[in-house]
Amino acid sequence: MHYQPKHDLLAHHIVLVTGAGDGIGREAALTYARFGAQLILLGRTESKLQAVQAEIAAQGGMPASIITLDLLHVTPEQCQQMATELMSKVPRLDGVLHNAGLLGELMPMAELPLATWNDVMQVNVNATFMLTQALLPLLLKSNSGSLIFTSSSVGRTGRAQWGAYAVSKFATEGMMQVLADEYKTHNLRVNCINPGGTRTQMRASAFPDEDKNKLKTPADIMPLYLYLMGGDSRRKTGISFDAQPGRKPGAAE
Ligand code: NDP
Repeated sequence: MHYQPKHDLLAHHIVLVTGAGDGIGREAALTYARFGAQLILLGRTESKLQAVQAEIAAQGGMPASIITLDLLHVTPEQCQQMATELMSKVPRLDGVLHNAGLLGELMPMAELPLATWNDVMQVNVNATFMLTQALLPLLLKSNSGSLIFTSSSVGRTGRAQWGAYAVSKFATEGMMQVLADEYKTHNLRVNCINPGGTRTQMRASAFPDEDKNKLKTPADIMPLYLYLMGGDSRRKTGISFDAQPGRKPGAAE
């Protein structure tokens, strides 16, 4: 995407990113902070979140805060408690990027253990749903809120072996569409990003034999992440965007 954001695109924006400690989420948090946002970094591994927090401070960004939450075991009550605590610290949320994700195991559906299925659904779908319910009141306090879900090409067309992960991303697309329709008369836009093959740990587990130098880095795909988080996308809702339009799904060639 060719997008030239203004340097202060996200000034006065308060943005929460899940899975902010690594991969695409880490890059998105650092990028949003560089464009002026105040970040809330949510993730599982506190040390990784602290490293991102320190990096934001070192690049001169607004002080970021940390919420450590393991989405594999999170309950609705914990999400509500987290949101209540957040309400005492910030007046609103202008953006939420649901980015945390679990790949699970790639294998034929006939062999997929129920435990793997449940874990993937818990992190990618149930926790995303619980967090969204808890955070909606804060998002609706913004005069231009942006709720972004992270999809995948296998969330649009199923692929052999991608079992629970693919189904969870179809569910993510559905969650986005339902919410976009429910909030179409509010100041809240709801969209999906399909990052496309991107150089991260998750990608390396899915395609261990691929030449990772042929993949875009998380930094390369940030223009779309910025566009959807900032005011230039104000009128866009209910859309599933590709961060790498035209890229063929599957291994890098
Ligand atoms: P990574 O595995 O590099 O990062 C995933 C992030 O999610 C990490 O910060 C991880 O935390 C966090 N996370 C995982 N499980 C939990 C949990 N139980 N609780 C809290 N946080 C958790 O993945 P990517 O950056 O590649 O993926 C980011 C998103 O993009 C995912 O939703 C993925 O499905 C999607 N995607 C990625 C593509 C790619 O090619 N990379 C392609 C298409 C979609 P920790 O570091 O602590 O483990």
